[in-house]
Amino acid sequence: MIDLFDKHKPMVERRDAMIAAGVEPFGLTIEEFVTPTLGIIQGRQTILAGTNNYMGVTFEKQCIEAGKKALDDYGTGTTGSRVANGTYKLHKQLEAEIARFMDKKHCIVFSTGYTANVAMMAGLAGPRDTIYLDSDSHASIYDGCAVSGARLVRFRHNNAADLAKRLERNKDSSGGQLVVLEGMYSMLGDRAPIADFIELKKKYGFQLLLDEAHSFGVLGPNGRGAAEEAGCYDEADFIVGTFSKSCGAIGGFGVGNHPMFEAIRLASRPYVFTASPSPASVATTLEAVRLLAREPERRDRLRENADRLFNGFKGLGLELGCDVSSPVIAVKCPDEEAAVGIWKGLLESGVYVNIALPPGTPGNECLLRCSVSCAHSFEEIDKIIELFGDVFGQFQGASQPGRE
Ligand code: PMP
Repeated sequence: MIDLFDKHKPMVERRDAMIAAGVEPFGLTIEEFVTPTLGIIQGRQTILAGTNNYMGVTFEKQCIEAGKKALDDYGTGTTGSRVANGTYKLHKQLEAEIARFMDKKHCIVFSTGYTANVAMMAGLAGPRDTIYLDSDSHASIYDGCAVSGARLVRFRHNNAADLAKRLERNKDSSGGQLVVLEGMYSMLGDRAPIADFIELKKKYGFQLLLDEAHSFGVLGPNGRGAAEEAGCYDEADFIVGTFSKSCGAIGGFGVGNHPMFEAIRLASRPYVFTASPSPASVATTLEAVRLLAREPERRDRLRENADRLFNGFKGLGLELGCDVSSPVIAVKCPDEEAAVGIWKGLLESGVYVNIALPPGTPGNECLLRCSVSCAHSFEEIDKIIELFGDVFGQFQGASQPGRE
């Protein structure tokens, strides 16, 4: 009989080879926090530049107090799904707050951002429908498509002309058509050209879902995301977001103005058949969203920090994943060995970034991905630039032919 684990052997061997070389990039442990942007890793003070804590809210006093109060008032967990015993006053308050923040009529809160995508897509589309996905979509979007049972059509990343071709081929289909985009893509930090896709929407009449996981609270004058930043906020039918990044908590949401939006609560298995988010995470999120609404200057500061890091990396001549500044800045490495070596060198020098390797990366690139926080000081940003310069320099020096 075949062992079900056999198929994982190549992946395990690849990881074991990294561990043998003294690197374990996928199981890194943060031992303590000194500040939201400074942690202790392997016993050393380390600047955290790979946490998605864009708005720096993880240690905000009012969020922590609200979480503690929710533990006291509501207990540790809900022990059930939203449709059974798992709807508390706090869930309703959070839905009302997000609807207000996003300026949409309806909001449903889910247990994670992953679940929010799967639940929204499975609630909207079914086996007779077609879902069009950008090829660089996050795993939760692909999984949402699989759970929905809809036909999957992929189009080239950020390429509205390629989507148009596929819509044209399918224009006589009798089922519904859903296009899913991410506002800002998580690996390279590039934005979707949303206005181009809206033009197609006018012509073909599909419904549009935007995953603003990395841009909710982060981009746009009111923090509503990349569509708001691009000036076409009202054209998206549905927006999904997560609380695990800008809100420093866990959970996700879907919003929209469709008069039948609430049907998702009944039609979507990932909403019906999982426990609702715990009182403490709902309460901390509620405070975080209020804070993001109250303090737009956090978004200004994040932009300044992102520009500073982007320009610093450009100054070093590094090859970046995206040619405009963004809170996600990915640096391309020539190959896996270089990426792993540089990642390790950076960590040992005191900066933690994410490493992303094929097959899970756009264009199968080997990437060192930084996420910028509004809580980073300019000194921290400058230190990150300096360390990238040093470690890339050492690596390039070591790989020059003829050098020892
Ligand atoms: N969508 C995108 C684009 C993401 O990057 C992520 C998480 N990295 C998610 C959805 C899922 O969010 P969560 O981790 O909060 O479940």
